[in-house]
Amino acid sequence: MHYKDCNLLKTLYMHFLNEHHAISLQNYLTQKMCYWFSTDAAYAMAKKIPNIVAILHGRVPPCVMHAVFSCWCNAWGTNESFQVQDKTCIMSYSCNGGDGIKHYANCEAVWQWTVRTFRIRHLQRGLKTFLLVGIDGEHDVISLALNLYAVYSTMNKWHHKNTPCPTSQLHSHLHDGVRTACNYSTKLRQHVQTIWAL
Ligand SMILES: [Zn+2]
Repeated sequence: MHYKDCNLLKTLYMHFLNEHHAISLQNYLTQKMCYWFSTDAAYAMAKKIPNIVAILHGRVPPCVMHAVFSCWCNAWGTNESFQVQDKTCIMSYSCNGGDGIKHYANCEAVWQWTVRTFRIRHLQRGLKTFLLVGIDGEHDVISLALNLYAVYSTMNKWHHKNTPCPTSQLHSHLHDGVRTACNYSTKLRQHVQTIWAL
């Protein structure tokens, strides 16, 4: 048996995946973003992703990277992604928006918390901001990645309960998400402390 040179990923790619389809992450993410944007816009946004990943690398824990990447891939377990159209926003009982990423990027109940928590009044609410592809400053990219994780973890929590979050509890559940992510990264904790010290 020769274990020394065995590289599972390389073996899988060379002998299985590559035989079927040469993988281009740029094309893959462009294709995913076409769900929300025109092809040209999706291509331009996918091109920004390596830079965003470089900013986040080492500054956020893997759970945040996972939430961000699965969002770019439109892979959150929302009712919209399962094509169940009659379900509404899981983040708040009083919101009539849909249960999908596009709505969570625009949800008023969430945005109020986002602006106050990360002091980002200068940014425009919307999908491009939520997905981190419409902002430039490194500081804001890290804040918005943490925001995205807080939304993701809160959404999963209430999907699991199969009921929308009581409106009065939303902000504390989003804060739980921030606390959880900060527990796994000293740099992220320092980032949040810097904002809150302003
Ligand atoms: Zn909503």
